[in-house]
Amino acid sequence: VLIPLLGLGLAVYFYSGPGNFSEEMLRGKRVIVTGASSGIGEQMAYHLARMGAHVLLTARTEAKLQKVVDKCLDLGAASARYVSGSMESTAFAEEVVKEAEITWGGLDMLILNHIGHSFFDFFNGDVDHVRKLMETNFLSYVAMTVSALPMLKESEGSIVVVSSISGKVASPFTAPYSATKFALEGFFSSLRHEFIIENVNVSITLCILGYINTENAVRTVSHVIKGAPAPKEECALEIIRSGALRQRELHYPASIVTPTVLLRDFAPDFLDGLVRSNLRVENIKRA
Ligand code: NDP
Repeated sequence: VLIPLLGLGLAVYFYSGPGNFSEEMLRGKRVIVTGASSGIGEQMAYHLARMGAHVLLTARTEAKLQKVVDKCLDLGAASARYVSGSMESTAFAEEVVKEAEITWGGLDMLILNHIGHSFFDFFNGDVDHVRKLMETNFLSYVAMTVSALPMLKESEGSIVVVSSISGKVASPFTAPYSATKFALEGFFSSLRHEFIIENVNVSITLCILGYINTENAVRTVSHVIKGAPAPKEECALEIIRSGALRQRELHYPASIVTPTVLLRDFAPDFLDGLVRSNLRVENIKRA
């Protein structure tokens, strides 16, 4: 009885957070969104545009970014532009932040959302792949944060880190990806402490997402995961909302993520069994 009650209480806390959200909070704000050419990042760009924010979008595929920028301008963005390149390189990560500095002379919100391609399969021992994914999914987040911090301190802005339930609870077939997401929690939670100790008024919001219906996610995992994915449009809005409210953590969808996180500490073996039973393991073809 206690666990669901506690879960409900925490879900309400994480979901609603302090204060009330108004879309006006984003009007005129200068926001970088990474991984904005598709999926949740693309949807965040559209919400921000509709709210009247300035957006700087990034990913590798220029043609897709151009289309997203055009749509953002149609939706009412205060301004919209893109920089294309790969986050495998920390130099590129820094270049994106530099672009914001040159264009806007400041920054209010940094939304770190991109991920490099990985496999949904048994770990094949490819250490280079783990290193590359760490660079793309983790190190570039660190590099962008370091470069953006002077501007974020000035604006008393926000860092929004898009993570996953795989960064709280490991499941099979995601070893490299899961490692990068666990790393994000360790790094950004430590940094949050230091901000508080040093009175740095920059918020850090960690977004713990369950299965979301982006094209890439559905293509990669739908043959194995039994549950239905949650909508990317609503997910994107919740991420922006939690960042604007300076919440510590977002759980989306809360009905799945919050109980899972709670069970991790109360009943880890039971949870691991549940995780495996939610997968059609027979659909993973062993190499
Ligand atoms: P998508 O695969 O739809 O989008 C990934 C984005 O990252 C694209 O814009 C892609 O653009 C960009 N990208 C890929 N490789 C690189 C690279 N090397 N350098 C720079 N950009 C790159 O992802 P989702 O929208 O599904 O996921 C967004 C976030 O949500 C991620 O952090 C993910 O971990 C998290 N999440 C998603 C879940 C889901 O079920 N969808 C579940 C849990 C968490 P391009 O290819 O043009 O570079």
